[in-house]
Amino acid sequence: MACQLRPALGWVLTHTCRRQALLAPKACKPGVRAVSSNLEKKRSYWQHLRRMILKPPTPPYKHVCQVGDPILRCQAAPVEPAQIASQEVQAVLVTLVRVMRREKCVALSAPQLGVPLQIFVTEYPEKLCYEHPPSIREIQQIHPFPLRVFVNPTMKVLSSHLATFPEGCRSVGDFSACVPRYQAVEVSGLNEAGEETSWQASGWAARVIQHEMDHLQGVLFIDKMDSQTFTSIRWATVHE
Ligand SMILES: [Zn+2]
Repeated sequence: MACQLRPALGWVLTHTCRRQALLAPKACKPGVRAVSSNLEKKRSYWQHLRRMILKPPTPPYKHVCQVGDPILRCQAAPVEPAQIASQEVQAVLVTLVRVMRREKCVALSAPQLGVPLQIFVTEYPEKLCYEHPPSIREIQQIHPFPLRVFVNPTMKVLSSHLATFPEGCRSVGDFSACVPRYQAVEVSGLNEAGEETSWQASGWAARVIQHEMDHLQGVLFIDKMDSQTFTSIRWATVHE
């Protein structure tokens, strides 16, 4: 089954965008979904009854899509600027921020919630940032930053020096790997009010931007990682 535009947001996309998303070069292969369709989610009786009565969830989901879901391999379509103020796009933005904060992740892109649009949000509160030891923060240049919203973002490389550090993704379960990323980039786009916005970032923040820009192209960190460093973050605790 190829990547689909989810119905609730279909009207937000122009016909051009629709075709772009449907005919994207990274359109998913038919067999991908079939692998997971054999595994039915186990539900309690009450969950079963609830699903019988209520319809299945529609995008933007309140959960994060997992690797294998074709939506994560689609090239996201641009948002019509006039539609940023629409209820549908605003609902995507609100849900992205809500899920990002609930999941305690530093950023989230619209495809991760099942919406194939060029949108990502990012925020690094002090509380989360300072969970890292000072030495790690210093080496990886990890600093807190306020909430930022980017619609139709474009990225410019400011420093082609590559820094290789571990990163993970809420769409790739409990794994991490070292990924080389540019040291400094500038991202430009529109904010939640449809106004032009840009951000020059270096270190960890630059890494976050590149990771999210990749999501909008259907690329995951596992495509760029040093595969020998691919690690389950729970590898040590399984012995306990
Ligand atoms: Zn990710």
